[in-house]
Amino acid sequence: MMSAFEYAPAPQSASVVDVAPSYGLFIDGEFRESADGKVFKTVSPSTEEVLSEVAQAGSEDVQAAVKAARRAFEKWSALPGAERAKYLFRIARIVQERSRELAVLETLDNGKPIRETRDADLPLVAAHFFYYAGWADKLGHAGYGPDPKPLGVAAQVIPWNFPLLMLAWKIAPALATGNTVVLKPAETTPLSALFFADICRQAGLPRGVVNIITGDGPVGAELVAHEDVNKVAFTGSTAVGKEIARTVAGTRKKLTLELGGKGANIVFDDAPIDQTVEGVVNGIFFNQGQVCCAGSRLLVQESVADELLESLKRRLGTLRVGDPLDKNTDIGAINSAEQLARITALAEAGEAEGADRWSPACELPSSGYWFAPTLFTGVSQAHRIAREEIFGPVLSVLTFRTPDEAVAKANNTPYGLSAGIWTEKGSRILKMASKLRAGVVWSNTFNKFDPTSPFGGYKESGFGREGGRHGLEAYLDV
Ligand code: NAD
Repeated sequence: MMSAFEYAPAPQSASVVDVAPSYGLFIDGEFRESADGKVFKTVSPSTEEVLSEVAQAGSEDVQAAVKAARRAFEKWSALPGAERAKYLFRIARIVQERSRELAVLETLDNGKPIRETRDADLPLVAAHFFYYAGWADKLGHAGYGPDPKPLGVAAQVIPWNFPLLMLAWKIAPALATGNTVVLKPAETTPLSALFFADICRQAGLPRGVVNIITGDGPVGAELVAHEDVNKVAFTGSTAVGKEIARTVAGTRKKLTLELGGKGANIVFDDAPIDQTVEGVVNGIFFNQGQVCCAGSRLLVQESVADELLESLKRRLGTLRVGDPLDKNTDIGAINSAEQLARITALAEAGEAEGADRWSPACELPSSGYWFAPTLFTGVSQAHRIAREEIFGPVLSVLTFRTPDEAVAKANNTPYGLSAGIWTEKGSRILKMASKLRAGVVWSNTFNKFDPTSPFGGYKESGFGREGGRHGLEAYLDV
């Protein structure tokens, strides 16, 4: 049996993370080249340097991975929950032990600041495995009947914005409930999933329970269409989500979709300004705004708009943009040239439609994919930057006078994933939360995640819930 680390030539240097020059697919407990030998390159978005060459899966590999998962399913699903829990606990602990290595790897491949991977992504990854490990022997008490059954083979396709965290959201509940998995990471961020495959081996996870196939969109399409798949879980763009829904329609596959968003951060005149500014900054600039639940629209009550914007601009002037491996960096690189082009085009549309564009003075590195933190004022609801998901460090500011107007504007979107409310009044928070059509509503905070809490959207943001007890349902026949 070969590991990526055996399969690949010896690494060049002994740093926190040793990225090998090449990696294979992880199928049936082994790393292997793709059947046709094809590879693709993954680059560091902050330098454009090639990090590694990764196997590009083809049809034969998709077949082999699903077959391995099917073979493993019988034994895995028959294990007592307490036994499955031991593997999940072991995985969680190894993730913690290797978290420095994984944080650096994720930052290299994704471009996000090391402070975020170290303090947010990795602790949450471990927490998800710990949390679902705890459910594995208690499924009969989850409210889904005394003996709920797993579905079978889960096909999971994930995006590049939180590569390892999205993997944890998908794999932890699937394994806890007795399913086996074929997961495809995004083509721009394949590395942490392959390191996770190594962790599965380190934890002694039986072969075939987790399979990782790397490659582009067509590989994902082939995987979700495979007739021996029982469950499809997808996080990514609304366009691809719709395509997957069409593929799965009429089959007996169970489907959950976690798609885009256009979250509103709603600031009332009694909100504490400094705390609110921090929350708004975190809401839109965390992970360069490449977050499905980002607070990408700021709705501020007219009477405090000038004061808030002044503070916000001052704060943006202090954000450090640059080397994501520097622990003082606030804003890292955009994940890919394609994503940078999308953000650039939408920001240009904002200007063309008449909104006022502002960025603090900041020097962007000369290589890599960078976009300065950007604020648009004078935005109307009809503008594209107020309606479309930008998925970048761009905040569209609108104003309102009354709570009802704030609700109407916040809900005026095809999405419904997240919202934030900033006010000192508890009663107002409760009233607003009940009227906002958003899967998660934060009050006086933003972008807080917890494995015990369900997450998911209304409308075009998708359906089904991940996280919490609700997250089990997606993987059980209830
Ligand atoms: P995408 O939806 O194209 O890709 C997400 C994943 O789906 C990747 O693994 C990709 O390889 C795979 N995929 C692509 N086409 C597929 C298909 N036909 N069938 C099955 N799998 C397929 O997203 P993207 O191109 O990476 O980003 C585009 C936009 O999507 C972004 O600008 C953003 O608006 C949105 N997005 C949302 C999220 C989220 O968390 N909701 C995450 C990433 C991107």
